[in-house]
Amino acid sequence: MITSKQLRNKWISFYEGKGHVNIGAVSLIGDGTTGVMFNVAGMQPLMPYLLGQPHPAGKRLCNVQGCVRTVDIESVGDASHFTFFEMMGNWSLGDYFKKEKTAWSFELLTKEFGLDAKKICSTVFAGNESAPRDEETANLLVSLGIPRENIFYLDKSNNWWELEGTVGTPCGPDNEWFYPLTDEECGREHCDINCPCGRYVEIGNDVYMQYKKTADGYVPLDNKNVDTGFGLDRMLAFLNGLTDGYKTDLFTGAIARLEKASGKKYDDGGEAQKAMRIIADHTRTAVMLIGDVNGILPSNTGAGYILRRLMRRAIRYCRALGVPGKEMEEVAKVFIEEVYGEAYPLLPEKEEYILSEIAREAERFESTLEKGMKEFDKTLAGLERKNEFMSKQDPSYVRETTIGGKAAFKLYDTYGFPLELTIEMAKERGYGVDEAGFGAAFKEHQEKSHAVQEGKFKGGLADTSAATTRLHTATHLLNAALKAVLSPDVNQKGSNITPERLRFDFNFPRPMTEEEIAKVEALVNEKIGENIPVVFEEMPYERAREEGIVGVFDSKYGDMVKTYSIGTFSREMCGGPHAERTGELGHFRIVKEQSSASGIRRIKAVLE
Ligand SMILES: [Zn+2]
Ligand SMILES: [Zn+2]
Repeated sequence: MITSKQLRNKWISFYEGKGHVNIGAVSLIGDGTTGVMFNVAGMQPLMPYLLGQPHPAGKRLCNVQGCVRTVDIESVGDASHFTFFEMMGNWSLGDYFKKEKTAWSFELLTKEFGLDAKKICSTVFAGNESAPRDEETANLLVSLGIPRENIFYLDKSNNWWELEGTVGTPCGPDNEWFYPLTDEECGREHCDINCPCGRYVEIGNDVYMQYKKTADGYVPLDNKNVDTGFGLDRMLAFLNGLTDGYKTDLFTGAIARLEKASGKKYDDGGEAQKAMRIIADHTRTAVMLIGDVNGILPSNTGAGYILRRLMRRAIRYCRALGVPGKEMEEVAKVFIEEVYGEAYPLLPEKEEYILSEIAREAERFESTLEKGMKEFDKTLAGLERKNEFMSKQDPSYVRETTIGGKAAFKLYDTYGFPLELTIEMAKERGYGVDEAGFGAAFKEHQEKSHAVQEGKFKGGLADTSAATTRLHTATHLLNAALKAVLSPDVNQKGSNITPERLRFDFNFPRPMTEEEIAKVEALVNEKIGENIPVVFEEMPYERAREEGIVGVFDSKYGDMVKTYSIGTFSREMCGGPHAERTGELGHFRIVKEQSSASGIRRIKAVLE
């Protein structure tokens, strides 16, 4: 039996012993610069360094990095899908290469984890017209003691890594490690790593970035990199001989808690088991996202919406299991106090906050869930009645199996059902949802509320022509860019907008350098180029404060405030109106930077 803590520590100490520096984990939440909402792979934050930028910690790095992947959220509920997982990684940035790496991976697997060298299987790149077969790796593996017949040569789709659609970037073959779960073959002719019975599990991957991708093909790279990734959750199950990922010590506490609350047994399988897996997985991810250094909260946009989807799906499964949604709070407590508190010290620090936010979302959704379910049942019953009636009238009638977009939007808008939840529930009953119709209903509603908003909250603008609206939206970007380039302490001290230009005053002790001005301009234009939606949300004042939203905090506790977010780059309390997307702004140029008063600088800028 090896525990998750032991495995995490073993990985780090093994590679520290080989001269690596543990660089720790970074935030799970994308900073908005790459367009990726969550960190989906261990190597993602290392990308600039793999592309050649020197890393401050040196050339040999390792860590254990949390990742969030929600693309197959609907698959969660089986034995092997998770929306949060940890990747154990190590890297050589232009330092050691295949000889050392194959030997160390082999040493870790055989000496530290006690795997049998004769049973290890590896896949290497088979070669094609642009890059040779990776015999180098194959020979190294054989020299270590892996039988030659256990080496499999696979094509580019399996054993090659590169960034799609780029040139000038590194790429190369990879070496994947496999091991059989059991010695018993399934009876098919070749029960090897390619056998559909799943006897072999993939336990990790060493990528050898040895080529540079050019317009004319691959050329050898001067600084060769190694990028290793072994999934902790999967490895942990494997090392403990488990085929069910929810049986590891990462989940046993949470499952026990749910068994106690529901009076049902996980091992009885069926719907209760599925519900327990979903609640446990989604609660864990919610804990990690709320408790992250750049923590987020459930909302109706962006990453916050994904979090809301996860939480509301879990709450619905709490209901299926026969426990209140508030039970998530108890499950979260287990993850924080018993499982992840040591490796993620921010979680115990933020525990009270995390638990209260989970409780709050459960309350919010449960207050409408019951009525929403009734509405949903009513909609389906209506469809079923219609189908029955029509079939009697006309035997050739084709049953209607789609829930209308308006009905789905009502579930969303009135009862807080994320569209995906409605789709999932409909699917369980053999129905689909008119998603395009939902989108149309959503848009119509948005246009109506915008019209009301513009009429009500002019945000201090003398006129609300398109030109001033764009310039005003640009001040949000400018404010955020000044904070990023100069100092987080920079704050807006005044603003004046005409249809021709914006004027923006802020505290800063000295004139900006030309370089700083250029940087601010470039950053604003970068955000304009990303065409980010400008998102409106009304929220309680104290929540805006907790979330670090920029603004003049003269509201009282309990007040609702209006906020506008541009990705995660800019979040401000403001009365609006604003452009819908940053792409509408055009090109931003600073025309003047001057003193306005003592300690206050003034920028005049235009959009052209
Ligand atoms: Zn087989
Ligand atoms: Zn504004």
